[in-house]
Amino acid sequence: MTPDSTNGAFGSQPRDRLGRPIRDLRISVIDRCNFRCTFCMPADREYRFLPRQQLMTFEEIERLVRLFVQLGVRKLRLTGGEPLLRRDIEELVRILAAVPGIEDLALTTNGALLGAKAPALADAGLNRVTVSVESLRADVFGRVTGLGHSVDQVLDGIDAAAAAGLGPIKINTVVMKGTNEGEIADIAGYFKERGHIVRFIEFMDVGTVNDWSLDRVVTASEITGRIAERWPLEPVDRAQASDVAERFRYLDDGVEFGVIPSISRPFCGDCARARLSSDGRLYTCLFADTGPSLRDRLRAGATDDDLLAFLAGHWRQREDRYSEVRAERLRAGLQPAAERVEMFRIGG
Ligand code: SAM
Ligand code: SF4
Ligand code: SF4
Repeated sequence: MTPDSTNGAFGSQPRDRLGRPIRDLRISVIDRCNFRCTFCMPADREYRFLPRQQLMTFEEIERLVRLFVQLGVRKLRLTGGEPLLRRDIEELVRILAAVPGIEDLALTTNGALLGAKAPALADAGLNRVTVSVESLRADVFGRVTGLGHSVDQVLDGIDAAAAAGLGPIKINTVVMKGTNEGEIADIAGYFKERGHIVRFIEFMDVGTVNDWSLDRVVTASEITGRIAERWPLEPVDRAQASDVAERFRYLDDGVEFGVIPSISRPFCGDCARARLSSDGRLYTCLFADTGPSLRDRLRAGATDDDLLAFLAGHWRQREDRYSEVRAERLRAGLQPAAERVEMFRIGG
């Protein structure tokens, strides 16, 4: 055993330069989306999507996942773009649910297709879903998501997921000044009543097309403050060091919510997350500008041993701490670094 590795049940597990293991893998299964959220892929831009043959196949994803398990991955999250647009996504879920070593298989979705898909996803072995909801008001929801979708369809999808057993359900809500900040307590209350865990996310400078600026960020402390005005709360300890959310519990019913303070209190120190883009590139940070193509290595005939050595070596070189660096730059009056992959290519 070397100092930058530990031995796990499935093989040698690398640590990066900051001593962080690799535990979570987020897999973007498609770059297309049926929404055009203002904070992710605004509708006033043109997007060029990958042709089908450039997407990773299910067999390629499965093979990579088996290798990542050997390196330490225990949690998988399918994302996108909109993962429910990937044809036969249930089949991929079934394949990945059967990989030994995977303890948690989740999926993040905008929820528009969830009503139709929830039972099949649960049946295929999906453990949990996270659904993104930025507003409960029809007009704001339509404006934020860009293509005139109805929030009722998403809320029905969430009910269908709960009925199918895809819980505990999490709701992701990006909070933006001038958009949905006035709805924080209403959103909290709606999902509190149903026992779902909302995670309010500070608007982040992901990608390059969402016109991010610091003065559009509502901080995690402000968000918690608005909720505390309506209900008494207590903080909850993080279940794992690598959890990104600061958690709270309502004293009256024990339901939880969280805030993700990526801008105001960055948390790179325990980040054990890797991301695979829909064309099979490996990103070791949400804010990276590029990553090596695993798909090309697979298609060029790399063996499992070649790939394992490559992945372990790549992880050992990792020193990403973008959010902490961003905080340092902002404190010094500088803008965040400019080159970043778009969120819909690698998922949240
Ligand atoms: N389409 C799916 C969805 O919206 O849930 C999955 C992909 S989406 C890129 C994953 C998550 O990223 C969503 O919860 C979304 O709210 C979040 N996200 C996208 N852009 C963001 C931004 N600028 N700041 C914070 N979160 C963002
Ligand atoms: Fe699509 Fe999700 Fe991005 Fe919205 S946040 S545009 S639903 S990928
Ligand atoms: Fe991890 Fe990068 Fe986010 Fe830091 S900025 S927590 S290293 S993904």
